[in-house]
Amino acid sequence: MRLRLIAGCVLIGVVATAVVAWVLHASLVNHWLAVHTGTVNEAGPYYGFWSGFGSDLAEFSILGAIATGVYQLVKKYNCHEPGCWRVGTHPAAGGQFLLCYRHHPDFQGRRPTHELIEQLHRQHVAQQLAIDTKLRDIHQQLFGRPADTTPGTQ
Ligand SMILES: [Zn+2]
Repeated sequence: MRLRLIAGCVLIGVVATAVVAWVLHASLVNHWLAVHTGTVNEAGPYYGFWSGFGSDLAEFSILGAIATGVYQLVKKYNCHEPGCWRVGTHPAAGGQFLLCYRHHPDFQGRRPTHELIEQLHRQHVAQQLAIDTKLRDIHQQLFGRPADTTPGTQ
């Protein structure tokens, strides 16, 4: 938060300095701007602009779209822990978050070992079996008969 405040103040200072420099040296800055946007030494300023710098505006929008796509891709796949730049490949909280191994609560900051993977797999299978058993009990209570376990029949 403090860093953002400092960066904001620096940005405002740079913009204010640029505006003051432009006001003080208007003819110099205007000539530089006219040369770099292509509006001098042409049949007209609009022709010079649109055949020069202005024709690149569409390319800037394409570059902006590509940059936005790359940003969204990075935001989707990097670790959801604030400030972490690693790739998040481990879902947490039922898939709401993608975390790296360092920030995933099951891994405690270390890479998952084979034993930990086996342990988590066994826990997952036991949890799924408990859910399945509970659903069968509920079905038995509601309909008075065991649930048909044939796939595609319900
Ligand atoms: Zn992380």
